[in-house]
Formats: sequence, C-alpha cells, structure tokens
Amino acid sequence: MKKWEENIRKVIPYTPGEQPKLQNLIKLNTNENPYPPAPGVASVIQSFSSDYLRLYPDPAASELVHAIAQNYGLADDQVFVGVGSDDVLAMCFLTFFNSRKPILFPDITYSFYDVWADLFRIPFRTPALDDSFCICPEDYMQENGGIIFPNPNAPTGAVLSPDAIERILSANPDVIVIVDEAYIDFGGESALPLIDRYDNLVVVQTFSKSRSMAGMRIGFACASPTLIHYLNDVKYSYNSYTMNRVTIAAGTAAIKDKAYFEETCRKIIETREWTKKELSALGFSFPDSCANFIFAQHKKIPAPELFKALREAGIIVRYFNKPRIDNHLRITIGTPDEMRRLIDFLKQYCQNHL
Ligand code: PMP
Repeated sequence: MKKWEENIRKVIPYTPGEQPKLQNLIKLNTNENPYPPAPGVASVIQSFSSDYLRLYPDPAASELVHAIAQNYGLADDQVFVGVGSDDVLAMCFLTFFNSRKPILFPDITYSFYDVWADLFRIPFRTPALDDSFCICPEDYMQENGGIIFPNPNAPTGAVLSPDAIERILSANPDVIVIVDEAYIDFGGESALPLIDRYDNLVVVQTFSKSRSMAGMRIGFACASPTLIHYLNDVKYSYNSYTMNRVTIAAGTAAIKDKAYFEETCRKIIETREWTKKELSALGFSFPDSCANFIFAQHKKIPAPELFKALREAGIIVRYFNKPRIDNHLRITIGTPDEMRRLIDFLKQYCQNHL
C-alpha cells in the first residue's frame, strides 16, 4: 500500500438505480413520474436564450425560492433549494448532525442515509421497522444526535401519521428532526404545517417525483428561518452556485402550475390503487403504499426469479439484495398501459410457474 493511501477518504458509495440505454423498456425501477413536466417547463426551456449562460446564476435562486414559498404559504427565508433532494439532504446532514451521539433512522429506509453518515463521519443507529414494515415512534425516544426518516418510507411506501410525527418531535426538542417527503404528494399528509410550531423540524421535498423533473435536479428544504440560515451558511462554504439558470426558470414554471400537478398526482394514485388490487389477486402482498411505488412480495415465487423474468420481458423493477427485504420487488407506478402490461405478464408467469 502506498503511504498516501492512509490519507484518502474511503467510502462505499450509494448505488443509484439503473438508467438503461435500451429503448422500449417499461421502466419501473427508479420511481420516476411517467408523465411529462408541466407544459410551462417546455416553454421556458425552448425560449431560454443561451446568451444568459455567460452570466453566473443568482446564488440564492430567489425566483425559485419565492415560488416554492408562495406555493406552500411560507416566507422566502423558510425555504432552501438544492440540486435534487439528495443535495439538500447531504447539506442537512453536514449542517445539522454534528453530535457525538448517534443519529437515528430506520433499518429499512433510503439507502443514501448511511452513506452520508459514513461520508461525514456521523455515528448512527438504525431502529428496526416492525414486522409490517412500519416505523415505531417509541424507537425514536432514546438519546440521539438527530433523526431522519422518509414519509412515506422508502422502499416500503408505508406512511406515518402526523400524530406519530408530532410525538417524535415532542420527544426530541434538543435535536434536529428531518422528514424526507420525497413521495408525500402521492397520498401522505405533509409535516409542513408543523414547521411553525417546531423550530427543530426540517421538511425536505423534491421535484423529481410528483413534478416529473428528476432529470432537472431540484429539491428543497422548509424550516424555521434560523435553520435555513444555517443551511445557507454551509452551502456558501461549499459551492455558492448550485442551481443553474435553466433549472431556476424551469422549476419556477413547474411549481406555478398547480392544476397540472394535482392532475398528474391524481392519475398516479388511481393507477396505484388499480395495481394494488391486481397484485393482491395474483398472490402478492405489500405494505399499503402512499407513494408512487409498491413494495411487493409473492407468496410463492421468489423475488430474484421474478426480477429476472420481468427483465427478460423488458420490464425493469428494483430489487434490493439486503437482509429482511431480499424477497421483495419495488415497482414504480407507470402509466395505466405500462401497469396493464406488467400485470398481464405476471398473470401469465404465475399461471405457468405455480
Ligand atoms: N429521498 C428519498 C426517500 C428518495 O427515494 C429519493 C430518490 N432516490 C431521494 C430522496 C432523492 O431524490 P432527488 O435527489 O431526485 O430529489
């Protein structure tokens, strides 16, 4: 080993879901939205003059921050934006989790949390979800250096009630509690109304799922002005110009179109509920999902086998080879036609293999 090896930061990185190059796949593996972004987004991009790219963007992305604040009835100084919620969450870990006590997050959850914790040398503990894959609020009442969980949880889709979230908040006034609401627009109840009452609460959301803009990379955090101020201090100590000019303009157009947003969320929820019924009839079980995916296992056919068969049929879903969840498939909700083709394939497969 070379001497310099000792001084290198070694990490085991997060593995993003696959973005295959093949055409004509039914892509149900990374929880993207099957519908295009709001029509105003295309107009903004088409009319964007490349001449503007000579100039640095507004480091505060004020136009986008203001549009998000307006949409949620918040003040501008209660909103922080970043390059996808991954960027926002990483900034939150760096800013808020600096205790020697371990932070807490569920054993089965978004698999980036332990990566950031390792990267930033933050100790952590992972209370186990119960047998039905639900978070037990009592587990978050032990001594800790901060708390983070997604609501709905990923990859399970199970939702935590506002009452349970409030119990966690009341029990933890001395640490920061982050609720990662990447999937909240598909049926859960947001913790946003709680930020005025709990100065230790940070709610993080994204444009990647319910606003169909995973490729644009926009995420945001909402919290008290004090916490947003601390986040900005860390951001400006790292990279001032995170949001580019096109993104700021396109994101602003997206958030202003409330009607389109509500319509696409409604369609996805409808397709999800249809898919749940069909999967149940085929012998699958799953936590009741409030997200744009279903975390399903079949009563007889092992998940790796189904994963492979689906892939060969051009349908890609996500499989996690991890303890407790290695017999599940996470299936993103696509268009009604895509879900019909998934169900038709599964029907045939179950018939031939049981
Ligand atoms: N939180 C959760 C729970 C997620 O599943 C994802 C998507 N991988 C993210 C955050 C990050 O999404 P993005 O960076 O696209 O906003």
